[in-house]
Amino acid sequence: MSKKIAFKTLGCRLNQYETDSLVSQFIENGYQIVEFDEKADAYIVNTCTVTNQGDKRSRYAFNNVIKRNIDAKLIVTGCMATQYKDKLEDEKAINFVVDNNHKANIFDLLDSYFKGESFALNEDERSVFSFLPAKDTFHTRSMIKVQDGCDNFCTYCIVPKVRGRAISRPINDIILNINQVLDFGFKEIVLTGVNITRYDYNGLSFHDLIEKIVEIPRDFRLRISSVEPEGFTPKLFELLQHTKVAPHLHLCLQSGSDKILLQMRRFYTLAQFKGIVQKIREKRPDFNFTTDIIVGFPSESDKDFEETLQAIEEIGFSHIHTFKYSKRNHTRAARMPEQTDEKLKTSRSEQVRVLGELKKRNYRASFIGKTQSVLVEKFQKKVASGYGENYIPIKFTANEVAENEFYNVRIIGIESGEDPNLLAELI
Ligand code: SF4
Repeated sequence: MSKKIAFKTLGCRLNQYETDSLVSQFIENGYQIVEFDEKADAYIVNTCTVTNQGDKRSRYAFNNVIKRNIDAKLIVTGCMATQYKDKLEDEKAINFVVDNNHKANIFDLLDSYFKGESFALNEDERSVFSFLPAKDTFHTRSMIKVQDGCDNFCTYCIVPKVRGRAISRPINDIILNINQVLDFGFKEIVLTGVNITRYDYNGLSFHDLIEKIVEIPRDFRLRISSVEPEGFTPKLFELLQHTKVAPHLHLCLQSGSDKILLQMRRFYTLAQFKGIVQKIREKRPDFNFTTDIIVGFPSESDKDFEETLQAIEEIGFSHIHTFKYSKRNHTRAARMPEQTDEKLKTSRSEQVRVLGELKKRNYRASFIGKTQSVLVEKFQKKVASGYGENYIPIKFTANEVAENEFYNVRIIGIESGEDPNLLAELI
């Protein structure tokens, strides 16, 4: 009887990529993947610690397994596991605590355990790029890891502590990985890492990587996804116009106040950030920008917050991940004076959310009458849904369409309510 494995993944696309790869490896070796609430022989929780919320949700996930008191193995991995490794190793109910540097070894660890063989993690090894190409995954798009770690040390951020110093994956391995997943049938590639525009492998920078990828003589869509507003060279601006590159970036602003950006130790001003957006929109006016905003950073005044709202108004982000500043131990901001009151954080977060929803609807409605190429993720009861190249959610009716295929559609309307899908017709 094949052993059953269940996964729970929290946090960012990088965590999702790593889980997808492990899922694929277990399936290829005869294991069965079951839902997290089902009975399994082992549960793997890939945790997040970027905010207090991340810690809480991670803890809730593995406590959920412990409370069920099932005769199964519990593996806790990811950023929270890396941050609190010693403490978690004292918890008897957790069988293995695996930090980010060894996450890629989880299959070998568990498979050896089930076979009664011994397997020791090499503590000196940092196997952050040893993940196998993901064939059977939870996603329609294939995430490709190109980089890990970060050297920026923004004052609020715990990531450099749990993901380590910046390291870039060999460029040929990335190209090979992309060709492998295209062989598996994936149609859209999403680049992921911690700070990917800081890619630097043997003197090859991020724009060199993008150039190599778009030169792959095959049919696919490249999505760059989350980037910091740095490393935007003239070459990169040029490559963002390439037909293979999806016209969407998740460009992290964090605050609209230069005073706060300085205290966050962000390497740009609002004017520089807007400069990047304007330069890209000169050539592609409907280029989509989504972003992260932190509200309630220590010493954020009403004026600072007004500047953030003003920036959102001017730039017109189509989606905003709003974070209430979350004190993280071992970060400089945690020791800063003038910590913001929780109530004020909540009210500011709500103001950003409401403005964000308005901007989202405006941006999406601007596509009515235009066309999009939708990668269909789901087709049920004659309704197909997926995302267009500008990363907007679209639904259309059809007698028969295939999932994981592109379809050209014309946008004819927009749903009411929050986070509206666009409504379309096949052309
Ligand atoms: S760039 Fe800043 S926010 Fe992003 S991972 Fe690095 S330290 Fe954290």
